[in-house]
Amino acid sequence: MIKVDHVTVKYGMFDVLTDITFSVKEGDFLALVGPNGSGKTTLVKTLLGLLKPATGSITFFNGSSAGNTSGTPPGGELKKIGYLPQKSSYSDPRFPATVKEVVASGLLARRKIPKILSEKDKDAISDVLKLLKIEDLAEKRVGKLSGGQQQRVHLARALVGEPSLLVLDEPTGALDPHTRDCFYYTLTNLNKIQGVTIIIVTHDSHSISQHAPLILYLDRKILFYGTIKDFNENTTSEHYFGRGSIHGKREC
Ligand code: ADP
Repeated sequence: MIKVDHVTVKYGMFDVLTDITFSVKEGDFLALVGPNGSGKTTLVKTLLGLLKPATGSITFFNGSSAGNTSGTPPGGELKKIGYLPQKSSYSDPRFPATVKEVVASGLLARRKIPKILSEKDKDAISDVLKLLKIEDLAEKRVGKLSGGQQQRVHLARALVGEPSLLVLDEPTGALDPHTRDCFYYTLTNLNKIQGVTIIIVTHDSHSISQHAPLILYLDRKILFYGTIKDFNENTTSEHYFGRGSIHGKREC
């Protein structure tokens, strides 16, 4: 689906990411972990085509490429990527949009005027609300919802266009541990049952290691890329995740 080949990314003269090589296959659930400032968000922005690699290339599933050689951002593919940005929350309870309207905006944002919902769109919205078990919140104002409910609304918005790939950047930062585990559990189901390919960025390596089967540990360069099983068998994993950090998955 995505092949990242010897990518280096710079801010001015500063190399943020060096020689990054990995690939994402359809159906993968990959956690991008690493300390603050290790380049996780930069890598996501590069995957989304918002930053251009200084060297190397990124090739997408249909063969379009973003790299220093072609210089073509993967803009044409963005409609296939559902993106949940960092710190997306509605803290003002008076924010006027309802859950249904926020999710609808995930479909309408990319459309030209007139931005009108078809019956098919309405069905898609209703389906995604059911999938994420928030159909009873459809007419509620998002600003009045809890952090965990709001995060499900953002997820619904990102999913409603049926993306081939879902990218989440630190989606659980503001959630309490139980709500965060439930959110990860929802992602696991989306991946296993609906077949959604997921890349999740988090510094919460402890929790995500219980959910994502693939780990890319980044610190400006790749320190580990492989299965969580191999990671656990790797003697250096405790250095990154802490001793005895891998437990069974907990259901909600
Ligand atoms: P992470 O998401 O892992 O916390 P980032 O990708 O946000 O890391 O940042 C990686 C490094 O790049 C940090 O040292 C950060 O200060 C720097 N950085 C991030 N954005 C910019 C920018 N727009 N201009 C210059 N340096 C930046």
